[in-house]
Amino acid sequence: MIQGIKISVKGIVQGVGFRPFVHRTANLLELTGWVINNSSGVEIELNGSQESLDEFLKALNTNAPKLARIDEITVVPVAPNNYNGFTIMASQAEEGKFVPISPDVAICDDCRRELFDPANPRYRYPFINCTNCGPRFSIIRDIPYDRPKTTMAEFKMCDACQDEYDNPNDRRFHAQPTACPDCGPHVWFSDGQTHLAEKDAAIHMAREWLKAGKIVAIKGLGGYHLACDAENAQAVHELRMRKKRSDKPFALMAFDAETIRRYCEIDEFQSTELESLHHPIVLLQKKSSSTIVEEVAPHQNQLGFMLPYTPLHLLLLEPEAGFPHAFVMTSGNMSEEPIAYEDNDAMARLSPIADGFLLHNREIYMRVDDSVITTIRNKAYPIRRSRGYAPDAVLLPFIPSAMILGCGAELKNTFCLTRENYAFLSHHIGDLENYETLQSFEKGIEHYQRLFRIKPEAIAVDMHPNYLATRYGQNRASAENLQLVQVQHHHAHLAACLADNGWKTQDPVIGLILDGTGYGLDGNIWGGEILEGGYAGFDRRFHLEEFPLPGGDAAIRTPARVALALLWKSDIDWNPALPPVSELCSEERTVLRSQLEKSINTPLTTSMGRLFDAVSALSGVRARVNYEGQAAIEFENLCAPDETSAYAFEIKADTIQLASFFTQVVSDIEQRVPASIISAKFHNGLANVLVSLCKRIRSEIGIHTVALSGGVWQNKTLLAKTYLLLEKENFEILVHHQVPTNDGGIALGQVAITSTKLKKN
Ligand code: ZN
Ligand code: ZN
Ligand code: FE
Repeated sequence: MIQGIKISVKGIVQGVGFRPFVHRTANLLELTGWVINNSSGVEIELNGSQESLDEFLKALNTNAPKLARIDEITVVPVAPNNYNGFTIMASQAEEGKFVPISPDVAICDDCRRELFDPANPRYRYPFINCTNCGPRFSIIRDIPYDRPKTTMAEFKMCDACQDEYDNPNDRRFHAQPTACPDCGPHVWFSDGQTHLAEKDAAIHMAREWLKAGKIVAIKGLGGYHLACDAENAQAVHELRMRKKRSDKPFALMAFDAETIRRYCEIDEFQSTELESLHHPIVLLQKKSSSTIVEEVAPHQNQLGFMLPYTPLHLLLLEPEAGFPHAFVMTSGNMSEEPIAYEDNDAMARLSPIADGFLLHNREIYMRVDDSVITTIRNKAYPIRRSRGYAPDAVLLPFIPSAMILGCGAELKNTFCLTRENYAFLSHHIGDLENYETLQSFEKGIEHYQRLFRIKPEAIAVDMHPNYLATRYGQNRASAENLQLVQVQHHHAHLAACLADNGWKTQDPVIGLILDGTGYGLDGNIWGGEILEGGYAGFDRRFHLEEFPLPGGDAAIRTPARVALALLWKSDIDWNPALPPVSELCSEERTVLRSQLEKSINTPLTTSMGRLFDAVSALSGVRARVNYEGQAAIEFENLCAPDETSAYAFEIKADTIQLASFFTQVVSDIEQRVPASIISAKFHNGLANVLVSLCKRIRSEIGIHTVALSGGVWQNKTLLAKTYLLLEKENFEILVHHQVPTNDGGIALGQVAITSTKLKKN
């Protein structure tokens, strides 16, 4: 007997080959009916035998195209309609509805094969793509996602491309960015003045220049990279000088995982992540035999590698006669500025840095930086969530009663917009410290609002009065008469971790929130916080003892000064044998001492990040830094893996005391205990005290779930040690897997908290 059903599918189902898949499957099962894209997903009507219909639903769940993400399937019975075969109907746009948009996707295996197949019409064509791969988010101006609404609009398809585009049985059916050498974009090479070569010759020339040790700016998918040969010390040094970036690690790209293995250890999970649809930069353990120039990532145990994610990158990295092995591929900007993505701007800004330019004429509409992850226990642990992930939504475990904008924090900013249970956490915006980044923050918010048809009804901001993101939110809330919610920074970290883990309830958890900087309820700079709470609110149960931060946030640059402030606070003499003491000249020390004694510009802090900096400086590891977190990272890198002894931390009332701890450290330094042992004893001691405080809270109020969030948890050594101890004590442990543990995840926490506040009122 012939039955009829109607199926609605919600999720990422447009522009990913979903309708052709439905078409193929229906034909195979001899089902009749139709499929249509509408503004909230895909709708399907089917007639056929019960058995075939069941088979179809099974295939929907198991065989959908790999770029599709199905969030919801609804099936209702309908009367059979005597359809004649199966058809794909033209799209409908409905006012106000929205569909999730796919992130940019790394080149697929089929396209890769065609790229290197001399018989294929797209042989060595740097813009080959299909419905399973290629640019998406970075080229979309508006929805619905159709070619005229992308930066491919200006390229008119040739007959051959059009035929594929129109054929439901072709891999390029409705592949919006599809193109070929006859009708699509092309590349050329320039020295900044003169057009030197085109197409394959341009790529060849870029490789020759890189081989000769020059620096080449490369227009990629979401922006420009600056590239040089990672095994050429002179080239890497030159790039550092010109980019004015000292010490902060550069990212690397190699042709395949095999090549990366020359330099780094890769486990099975890491290689899956490297080769995933997202193709992030993965932080990998460096081999001692690595021949990557040290200056690529000075004093680091890890290197950040990614695989080529566009055909252009594949052609650039393709080994030929032993070249290349690995290129530095760092974002195309002067230190601290956002990545360049517009051609004129890029030429102007990158000319002082790059010798040559590999350019193309496919416009980048939205800049997207490369994403960075590390891995823990065979799971991804995001450091920067951007290309390949954004604008994928994080699915909230509840539905906010209003559309909310979370403005995020100051550093590593991302923003977040909600609609229904979708939290659209933006791509990485950057440090909101200059006009250019603020511009891309504002442009980004406008773009997401347009793409997802969102009009915020409430705005969440950090409590820090001077964050540019906070001011933006305040101004907008008052201009548009929207509700403004101020969210404490570490509460936002806690909520971000809960939302990241799909935490549904209002039940409180223990939050071990270890961070660099965040504005506290008392106006102090918080960062070593043990909270008890959930989305609705929090109690500050324990925290690091307050200590003075001479010069406020400026102290971040000079860990030696923080170390001296902590010694002063702990009543320990500034013995010139201690590294941070000798680092400052006697005049500097006199000024510092009087500053501390008179409390001149010495805000109080409980920052865990600064404590790491101070102990690093004290151990002689690093007294001054060139980027945030450098002292702590180098101190962690030294940690002796097998050392089990630990410093003791004393608890008085609700504070973790520091004086007795510093007495132990100074005594070790005086006895010439190596920094590697001091580092291990510090990490061990910290893990011990954190877990003992968790046990204390559990014994008082019975909470046994612990959420770990805040930038300090990028320290995998501390994370692994704390995790093990918590596990041994049978705690349920929540760590980040979808959004960064650093301030890149703050905006998600802000919207989760605000949503709960709105519901309560
Ligand atoms: Zn493809
Ligand atoms: Zn064509
Ligand atoms: Fe933070």
